[in-house]
Amino acid sequence: MDLNEKIVSLAKRRGFVFPSSEIYGGAGSTWDFGPLGVELKNNVKRAWWRAMVQLREDVVGLDAAILMHPRVWEASGHVENFIDPLVDCRECKHRFRIDDLPGGERLIDAWRAGDVDVSSLGCPVCGKKTLTVPRRFNLMFKTFVGPMEDTASVAWLRPETAQGIYVDFENVQQATRRRIPFGIAQIGKAFRNEITPGNFLYRSLEFEQMEMQYFVHPGEGAAKFEEWRAERMRWYTAYGIPEGKLRFREHAPNELAHYAKRAVDIEFDYPFGGFKELEGIHDRGDWDLRRHSEYSGKDLSYFDDLTQEKFIPNVVETSGGADRGTFAFLLAAYDEEPDKDGTRVVLRLHPALAPYKVAVLPLSKNEKLAPLAREVWAAVRPHFMSTFDEAQSIGRRYRRQDEIGTPLCVTVDFDSLEDKQVTIRERDSMAQVRVPIAELAERIREKLPIG
Ligand code: ATP
Repeated sequence: MDLNEKIVSLAKRRGFVFPSSEIYGGAGSTWDFGPLGVELKNNVKRAWWRAMVQLREDVVGLDAAILMHPRVWEASGHVENFIDPLVDCRECKHRFRIDDLPGGERLIDAWRAGDVDVSSLGCPVCGKKTLTVPRRFNLMFKTFVGPMEDTASVAWLRPETAQGIYVDFENVQQATRRRIPFGIAQIGKAFRNEITPGNFLYRSLEFEQMEMQYFVHPGEGAAKFEEWRAERMRWYTAYGIPEGKLRFREHAPNELAHYAKRAVDIEFDYPFGGFKELEGIHDRGDWDLRRHSEYSGKDLSYFDDLTQEKFIPNVVETSGGADRGTFAFLLAAYDEEPDKDGTRVVLRLHPALAPYKVAVLPLSKNEKLAPLAREVWAAVRPHFMSTFDEAQSIGRRYRRQDEIGTPLCVTVDFDSLEDKQVTIRERDSMAQVRVPIAELAERIREKLPIG
C-alpha cells in the first residue's frame, strides 16, 4: 500500500472520512467527515481562524450566504470565465480537460486565442485520433430559486467564498469603522462541478474554503502580497508540515486567472504526482471592487480622510481548502516505526489539530478500576476533547490512540486507587510520568501547546 492508500484506509476504518452515500454505491467525489474527521477538520479551521482573525489586529471575520444575487457571478467573471474546455473521444467515450492532454498548456493558450486544434492528437486512453472540438463547460452548479425553473430564477452555488466578502466590503468597513489596510476572513462551503475530481479529499465537488481578502491602497498591494505569502507558509509549518514537503510556485503570466495580477501557490508534496496546490495567494488588483461597483451601481471606492485620497481598494487574497489542508496534515503526520509487535503507526498531528487531546484508559477492564477511571474521565472532559477505552490490552489501546494521533493517554491502575495518582503517557516519546489526579487538568494543559 502506498501512503495515499494507507491514509484512505485508516480514514475509513477509524472514522475520519467516509464516502458520501456509501450504502447507495457512493455519490462520487463527495465525502463525509466521521466522528474523528469532524474534530480534525474543525481544529484545522480553528487554527486558521486563530492565526487569521484572533491574533491579528487588522482582520475581522464574516460568514456570508452561499446563495447570492446572480449578478454577483457576472461581475466576478465566473459566468464568462469559470470554464473548462472539454473534449470527448468519439471512439472510447472518455472525456478530458484539454489541459490534461499532451501539450496541455500550449493548447490552453491556443484555446484562449480562439484557434485550438486537437484533430491531430491521439486520445490519451485509446490512442485514436477521434477527439471532438473543445466545448465550454461552466464549473458552477446551477439551481433555481422559487417554483419556476426559468432564466429569471437562476441561482448559482458559490464556487468560492470570496465574493461574499467583496459584496459586504462596505458593510463590514462601516460597521467596524476600519481603516485600510484591513482584512476580512471567512470559512465556508464552496461547490464546483469538477470534470476530473478525485484523489480523495484533494478534489471534490463540495468542499470548504478558508479565505481572507486584504484590502489595501493600490500602492501597497505588492508588499502585502509578499507578507501574506510568507505568513501563510509559516502557518502550515507551525502546525507540523515539514518545510521539505512544501514549496511556492509562481504562476506564469499565461496561467493567471482572469482576476489575478500575480499568483503564487503553496504546494504540498502529495503522494500522487508530487507537488500540487494547497493554497493560492493572489494579488487581485482592483478587479473585484471595481467590477462590483460597475455591476451593482454602488460606488465601492474608499475615501481616506487623512490623505484626502479616494481610491478603489486593491485586494490581496489568501485562499486555501479546509479539506485539502486536512488531507495534507493527515499525510504529513503519518508515521510508522518498528516495535516489538511489528509496526507502530503514529499520526504525529500537532496537538492543536489532534481529534482527541487525551484518552483515559483503565489499566485493565476491572470492576474495581472502572469507577475511578470514569471519575477521571469526567474530570478531564470539560477541559479537553477526550475519549475513554477499556477494551483489550493496554498495549493495544495505546497503539489505537497513536494511530489516531491522540497526544496523551492517562492510565488509571491499581496503585491509583491508593495513591490517587495516574500515569500520563506521551504519544511521540512514549515517556510516562505519574501525576496526582487533583492536578491532572493542569498537568495536561502544560503538555499541550496552545493554538
Ligand atoms: P486547482 O487548480 O487545484 O483546481 P484552483 O486554482 O482552481 O485549484 P482556487 O480557485 O485558487 O483553486 O481555490 C482555492 C483553494 O480551494 C485551492 O487551493 C484548494 O485548496 C481549494 N479547492 C479548490 N477546488 C477544490 C476542490 N474541487 N476540492 C477541494 N478543494 C478545492
